[in-house]
Amino acid sequence: MSSYIPIPLVTEILRRIGQYGFRELGPFIAAGPVWAEMVFSYDVCLLAQNNTAKYVEGLRRAAQDGPSVEILDMVGEAAVTNIHSRFAFGVLLVCCGSTNDGKRVLNTIFEKVPNFLEAVNIAEQVVAAIRDMGTPGRHTYRGFRGLIDIPECRLIHHTAPDVCPSCFALTYVFKISDLC
Ligand SMILES: [Zn+2]
Repeated sequence: MSSYIPIPLVTEILRRIGQYGFRELGPFIAAGPVWAEMVFSYDVCLLAQNNTAKYVEGLRRAAQDGPSVEILDMVGEAAVTNIHSRFAFGVLLVCCGSTNDGKRVLNTIFEKVPNFLEAVNIAEQVVAAIRDMGTPGRHTYRGFRGLIDIPECRLIHHTAPDVCPSCFALTYVFKISDLC
């Protein structure tokens, strides 16, 4: 079929039909493997786009409105495809008192990035995003903060960056709860 219809046009058709819901794309999946592949790759893109929107909205509300289950769900759902959202989800869980779950989520980031510096970059980008969107500074997360063990490094780092894997969670939970 792709020899008859240019790819951008197919994508546009799928995008328009997909607006009515993924179910409407069913007949295209049934039409054959080439169509099915396009629908699925399109669906993955759509999921990533939706998740980016969820991450941005979730982060904004987490920073400006304070904690809620709805916001955690939003950021958590987006965490599946969006690494920034995964970081935000981990930090927010710790901030809300689910220390162990949050730390576990944050540790999964190290498995998904090529090196520790990349994890720091992601964390700093989320901190910058919160700073850019502005917060009321009510410190709504302070009362929630669960006990965090003193990290092995004792926060002493002789080289940049001033954070290491053992204090990654602590450093950013403090930074972000201090901003909000
Ligand atoms: Zn450290």
